[in-house]
Amino acid sequence: MAALSPQLKQATGVLAERGEGVHIHGADGRRYLDFTAGIGVTSTGHCHPVVVRAAQEQVGTLIHGQYTTVMHRPLLALTERLGEVLPSGLDSLFYMNSGSEAVEAAVRLARHATGRQNIVAFHGGFHGRTMGAGALTTSATKFRAGIGPMMPGVVIAPFPTAYRYGWPQQQAVEFALDELDYLLTTVSSPQDTAAFIVEPVLGEGGYVPADAAFLRGLRERADRHGILLILDEVQTGVGRTGRFWGHEHFWAPEDGRRLADVLITAKGLASGFPLSAIAAPRELMAKARPGSQGGTYGGNAVACAAALATLDVIRDEKLVENAAEQGTRLLGGLREVAGSHPSVGDVRGLGLMCASEFAGPDSRPDPATAARAQQEAAARGLLLLTCGPLGNTVRMIPPLIVTAEQVDEALGIWAEAVTVAVA
Ligand code: PMP
Repeated sequence: MAALSPQLKQATGVLAERGEGVHIHGADGRRYLDFTAGIGVTSTGHCHPVVVRAAQEQVGTLIHGQYTTVMHRPLLALTERLGEVLPSGLDSLFYMNSGSEAVEAAVRLARHATGRQNIVAFHGGFHGRTMGAGALTTSATKFRAGIGPMMPGVVIAPFPTAYRYGWPQQQAVEFALDELDYLLTTVSSPQDTAAFIVEPVLGEGGYVPADAAFLRGLRERADRHGILLILDEVQTGVGRTGRFWGHEHFWAPEDGRRLADVLITAKGLASGFPLSAIAAPRELMAKARPGSQGGTYGGNAVACAAALATLDVIRDEKLVENAAEQGTRLLGGLREVAGSHPSVGDVRGLGLMCASEFAGPDSRPDPATAARAQQEAAARGLLLLTCGPLGNTVRMIPPLIVTAEQVDEALGIWAEAVTVAVA
């Protein structure tokens, strides 16, 4: 009899029979508050009726067109619609299925456009598990150990993780930018450096928000040296952080030019259907050599229809605003819990991307307590995920439709789970 691979590490032990809104109904007859959202994917909640209807209608019309073979209407409509929400000037799109594929597409584009090879990624970043995206991923060695050699031409620079260093934020930013300059002088000269790739909030790496001065520093260096800036908004995009794009917390159009040369989106874009995209200015996108990008399922018609419906729901139900409001409530509640539990060393977040890092008195990571807290929460009906280099951070990423009552319910469970976990 066939069974799933033994390497599968499942976070909750729940067999999901059905999803509805913020809840998963388990085969055990219990209803769970799903604060994982399928790793930040089910942005409009499980099976939102508008998304379900759009997908069902599309299934009866055209399931798969394959857009390098025939064009289809959902793809054209989605492209037009994304044009309304993307930073101005990122007016050319290309679609794939997963975040990793989109990251790889961005790397190909950057190499083609600049004629340079090296990509600078930042320590703690997660960009995927393929051999290219995996080479850019340093959120934990489990994604790399025994797997390499991976894609060459990758240089890792520090990210301003102030808590980890035990420094004020400004010092962490200055250090990160100084080290980047040093790397551009000693390891990867600007003439060899095609792009920087960065997340507005380190996701798998522990929910560490970037910083306005840091991102401004990257943009300045990119401009100075003709290096492209790739923003990986796979986890932070589409309303997750309480702005449509995560980087908008750190960058206003009035600040001058656009922050990203290439923006990557996936996860929440289609409420659970596999869809990702890269967006770039047309003249830049034109530098990818014909046929160098693509994939059989990319821009699938049902996924595009679901994405259009997702964008409608996000606009009509004001979900970006809701993410900001509920995110503030959630973060405040997590801080209160941390206030009475010294084993929670830090609480961080932006919008509905919030986390509690478990650490000993010397800030030493404490993955065991984090895992216990996660399990105790699941036992009380709240599904959560860990993240961070050693899994010592417990994150909360509910669907963007979450209500204040559901946030409070989750916080009540969390307070109990932490109390039991540290006992
Ligand atoms: N980039 C970021 C920032 C991510 O969080 C992830 C997934 N966690 C990826 C890329 C990879 O996406 P996928 O798993 O769809 O390949």
